[in-house]
Amino acid sequence: MENVGPNSYTTSELISIELYDLVKEYSIPRDAYRKLVRLMNTTIRDNDKLARESNPQIMHGPQVEKMMQQQTTLSAHSYDVCENGCKLYNLEDEATECQYCSHDRFDSRNSNKPFQTMKIMSIGDIVSGLIANPVTREELRYRHNLDAGHHDDDEQPDDEIDRIFIRDVFDADDYQRIRSTHFTNEHDIGICIQNDGFVIDKRGSRLFAIIHVLILNYSPNLRYKNEYSIQLCILPGKKKPASFSSYLSLILAEIQWLSTHGMVVNTPDNLSIRLRVHCVVAGGDIPGKSIQNW
Ligand SMILES: [Zn+2]
Repeated sequence: MENVGPNSYTTSELISIELYDLVKEYSIPRDAYRKLVRLMNTTIRDNDKLARESNPQIMHGPQVEKMMQQQTTLSAHSYDVCENGCKLYNLEDEATECQYCSHDRFDSRNSNKPFQTMKIMSIGDIVSGLIANPVTREELRYRHNLDAGHHDDDEQPDDEIDRIFIRDVFDADDYQRIRSTHFTNEHDIGICIQNDGFVIDKRGSRLFAIIHVLILNYSPNLRYKNEYSIQLCILPGKKKPASFSSYLSLILAEIQWLSTHGMVVNTPDNLSIRLRVHCVVAGGDIPGKSIQNW
């Protein structure tokens, strides 16, 4: 306590003062000030997430613009959906109205643009990002290390529940049965795909459903954490889609491709890593038989 004098500030207090001075110097509007404070606090809150990036930094304007331009090449991941959320129109689907609620797909009063679209993340894109990053690549080696039997004691989960989960996934008969045929490469990835059902608010109304993926290669004390799970998409609409499978089939088709043909990731540290992605477990409303193609 004796060190805390009137002139000693904590780091966050000093940053707050610096921001305050900047705001005053450039007459930044109150509203913008409030938003900047909120944003900066987000970066503190998400510190763990940021630390897992290989070189985390807030970019300057021109870099952001360049990044966003490159991102638009990912537009292939955007799909038309029924405005009521009944179904997703896959790339071969040429129907102009929803067969469940008869809502038009395209808006004739707005240059025939689709009434609603949604984005679905590509598992391949996500996995290649994780493999390219040396930090996450090492975390993903947990499965391989476990199989190879040389896992250190400190990698062992302390928690009894975690121990049970290991038994669940990588000691399970299903995994052991396909291990020698499907997990031949140390970087091969096992995933679990599941939907969360519906997120319900306090008054009991349904909000939305999320399809997400757990990467089982992470150690059990990481893989169930929020920041390690991947949200592939949030289903539109407030009720269960009439055709849940129209959404799911797109995702399963990509997994099928990655499982059969695999992918090559060229990393910034000059490695060329070949791997396949297999769905080992499915949960929620996702039928197990849809992924068990071995
Ligand atoms: Zn519909």
